[in-house]
Amino acid sequence: MKVYTSKLCTQMHTPGFEILGGAETHFYESPERREAIAGYMAEHPESFEITEEYSDFGEGPIRRVHKKELLEFLETAYDEWIKEGGHPNGVLPATVNHHKLARYGKQLASSCQARAGEFVFDLSAVITKDTYKAAWNAAQITLTATQELARLAENYQNAGDSKNHPPGVYALVRPPGHHAQSDMCGGYCYLNNLAIAAQWLIDESVKAGKPKKVAVLDIDYHHGNGTQEMFYSVSNPLYTSLHSSLDYPYFTGSADEKGEGEGLGFNINIPLPQATTDDEYVDALEKLIKEHVVPYQPDYIVVSLGVDTFIDDPIAGFLVTTDGYPKIGDVIRRIGVPTLFVQEGGYCIEKLGVNVGGILEGYLGKKA
Ligand SMILES: [Zn+2]
Repeated sequence: MKVYTSKLCTQMHTPGFEILGGAETHFYESPERREAIAGYMAEHPESFEITEEYSDFGEGPIRRVHKKELLEFLETAYDEWIKEGGHPNGVLPATVNHHKLARYGKQLASSCQARAGEFVFDLSAVITKDTYKAAWNAAQITLTATQELARLAENYQNAGDSKNHPPGVYALVRPPGHHAQSDMCGGYCYLNNLAIAAQWLIDESVKAGKPKKVAVLDIDYHHGNGTQEMFYSVSNPLYTSLHSSLDYPYFTGSADEKGEGEGLGFNINIPLPQATTDDEYVDALEKLIKEHVVPYQPDYIVVSLGVDTFIDDPIAGFLVTTDGYPKIGDVIRRIGVPTLFVQEGGYCIEKLGVNVGGILEGYLGKKA
């Protein structure tokens, strides 16, 4: 499987700390995460081919899902923040523009400190000097991987034995994306790499006169509030998610969020209880695929690949083990549809490589 990544994903976005559980702690979405996964891939050349080359698709595909105001804020925030005397660790909001706070009118935010409350919804999306460039690169690397998947899909016949081996491509990127909404960042996410990729696949297929359908499968432990928000009113892509019912981001992800307008019925949330095990997770995934993904008849699957479902993840509460991940990959393989995997969460550095690798090796039919 081709793996698209870059050392820039390690070097360019390195906040010194975050506020979690009321305390200052190290930044869990750390550069070491990429190194751990890339290290595993390099040790398994029989399964993975790493490429550090990627193309720049410009701002166009990003603007299809993100508002211009967010991009401008991300690009300029750090310099303004420093001029205003902000801490060099990076930009964090002091207040958030909560709908109850702004109940009686709209005071326009002028300073960077104030505008951060317009564009950032929590305390984990620290904006450093190069955060925007890092997020930009992650999006471009993901698009390059997506283009490669589209090329492989052209030659793929969904029949006979080849149905058991659909093409797959993996974007090993950070910062992650699925919490980033059209005009807000949060949850370690700034630009929604997977949403940008899904929209690009749809747009390119329409341009080519052969419209295709995309199904999002979000298997990160947390609900992908950003991806849901972006596609809530459309029927393509389909958004599906398995996630913790009681955890971050707390206010999204219930089963009754089903989409609206044309999108009604095309947003599928399956919240799972804390302490979900391997078998329970795989059963829920198989059911979700059988009842929602397969009937949708997608031409592509795009997976928000989080392994913070892991039993020893420091910030999550499921019990999925290293042995469970190949089974998850195997279930996705059996859909028989070309699949893009985009890296999201997963914070147990010691097992990150083998767990992510396990899903992809399961998809390749090499482990299950
Ligand atoms: Zn997560």
